[in-house]
Amino acid sequence: MTAQDAKPPEGSAEPAPCPKCELLDQVTAVPEVYAASTSAEEAIYAAKTIATNKNQPPEARTAARARLRETRPPAVPSRALAPRPPAAGPLPAFGLFIFGLIAATLAILGNHKDPAATTPTTGFTLHSTTFAVVSALLAALCLIFMIRALVRNHRIAVGLSAAEAVWRCGWYCGRCTIIYFQPGQEPPGAIPGRFLMPGEFRRLVWQSGGYLRG
Ligand SMILES: [Zn+2]
Repeated sequence: MTAQDAKPPEGSAEPAPCPKCELLDQVTAVPEVYAASTSAEEAIYAAKTIATNKNQPPEARTAARARLRETRPPAVPSRALAPRPPAAGPLPAFGLFIFGLIAATLAILGNHKDPAATTPTTGFTLHSTTFAVVSALLAALCLIFMIRALVRNHRIAVGLSAAEAVWRCGWYCGRCTIIYFQPGQEPPGAIPGRFLMPGEFRRLVWQSGGYLRG
């Protein structure tokens, strides 16, 4: 098959052939590859969850195992073509709440002295003070992580449209597992005529969004 015989991906504007194999039959727009990989990974994860859950009926687990056998893992993992890194999770905020609560509770209890108390409480006070200080330090650490995550998420939100503009221009060749841009449509940072490996392409996309370094 030659580049002239090959058909462009359905529903997409006709791209130039792959610069490596000079064919079009396995060339797909990057967003389509990413969507297909994401969908396959979600199907595999869902089937695995059911197949390994002993609380599920045997028939459901058998069907899930059959789906697992039938579902092929994506040729390229979705994370390799992701236009953005995963969003920061709520763990730092949760840690801040828990450690902050512990530190505040111990501080309040430490300040509350019972005038009727006659037994010495020095040992307990020392331990609770140490625990309060450690909790406060951990809460401060969680606060730093939370602020960094908020800044990072904000930076991604601001730069995502610029990154996606580059991402949408990429074409993936399944035979050569490379990505290339149409001649004359290379974004800033891409060398005309040079194809990219998925990792290089993702770096270029994230760099275009201004969040390559987190
Ligand atoms: Zn190719």
